[in-house]
Amino acid sequence: MNPVGKPGKTGTLMPVEQALQQLLAMAEAAPIRERNTLPLADCDGRVLAQDLVSTLDLPPWPNSAMDGYAVRLSDWTGEPLVVSQRIFAGQAPEPLAAGTCARIFTGAPVPEGADCVEMQENAVVHADERVSFTEPLHVDQNIRPRGQETTAGELVLTAGTRLGPIELGLAASLGHDRLDVIRRPRVAVLSTGDELIEPGLPLGPGQIYNSNRRVLCSWLTRLGCEVIDAGILPDDLEQTRTRLASLGAVDLILSTGGVSVGEADFLGIALREEGELALWKLAIKPGKPLTFGHFRGVPVIGLPGNPASTLVTFALLARPYLLRRQGVQDVEPLRFEVPVGFTWPKPGNRREYLRGRIEQGKAIIYRNQSSGVLRSAAWAEGFVEVLEGTTLERGDRVNFIPLSEVLN
Ligand code: AMP
Ligand code: MG
Repeated sequence: MNPVGKPGKTGTLMPVEQALQQLLAMAEAAPIRERNTLPLADCDGRVLAQDLVSTLDLPPWPNSAMDGYAVRLSDWTGEPLVVSQRIFAGQAPEPLAAGTCARIFTGAPVPEGADCVEMQENAVVHADERVSFTEPLHVDQNIRPRGQETTAGELVLTAGTRLGPIELGLAASLGHDRLDVIRRPRVAVLSTGDELIEPGLPLGPGQIYNSNRRVLCSWLTRLGCEVIDAGILPDDLEQTRTRLASLGAVDLILSTGGVSVGEADFLGIALREEGELALWKLAIKPGKPLTFGHFRGVPVIGLPGNPASTLVTFALLARPYLLRRQGVQDVEPLRFEVPVGFTWPKPGNRREYLRGRIEQGKAIIYRNQSSGVLRSAAWAEGFVEVLEGTTLERGDRVNFIPLSEVLN
């Protein structure tokens, strides 16, 4: 991707793609299959559970793309034509009488026999109300053919499509008032750390406010998940066991914190006792430590606790995992190449997701890229992806992932 750069040492760190592939494979092994049949209005953000095949031609008849006059081309010799009917959208016209034209409006069916619509701007209405045209006419001009959008039997949306305003509009245009969607994934969110307290309470010595909980609960809701907010979990083995056991039937336990090297790893111990655990050191920055395991059969993803690390690992790993659990194929965010407006002199051994913006066509980055600084992301429009082992000169090209691609 990037032409500049020397190979860097990745040591034993797991590349981001490999972690993603493993997570997606595990998601495929645990698909959520239950469906809900819901009114269209409730389907926004959900995943379609059925193929949507058109049962009709759309539009069902040729219609006018303009306000103007419908004509049979061979009738137009330069002699003004009598207007034999007026056709508004929603009306069913008569066949066009020979030697006449029809007044027609946008969206109205083109009458049988007409093969051309001329816009009213190129028409002259004479004193006797006959009409002539100032420009040459062409067959099919300004006519939207029958079946232009879709024809009966055509596959329009496939199962596994994430539904947004456009897909819902398409389903509505085909006459669907309800759709089968995958039921919402139930995700329990745990914030681990003795130092955490909730906003609204006075801050004691050594304490910080829990911000990850808000980030993840709001994000998961946008992502179409049902959130079970399990609050703060102290760094304590017994409480970790009890809390995990109390979560009940969820599709995923998502925790933050407590996965850094050197820290007493209570989540890890509890998972090893009653399930299994993989502890990954990822070639990702911010990020690096990530836990994947099961507790009594329920998948658990443990994200690193630093706010920017939580953000990046959720966006690039946990989010695709959750979408794939619902059968979404296209889980990776759009990336596009941009030139950089900064230099990157030291090659890193981890892939960096710098919080950046596009200014005058070039990527620039927030002044402080610490994993503890969430303001970097509030300022940013996206992630600037700097591959491991690369240096950058101004003008070199990198991938940019808009935050708007992942924050839903
Ligand atoms: P940990 O992964 O538990 O070692 O946490 C790494 C850093 O992230 C520490 O500075 C924590 O205080 C901070 N942190 C962990 N969880 C949260 C949270 N829920 N909200 C804000 N900061 C957190
Ligand atoms: Mg901690």
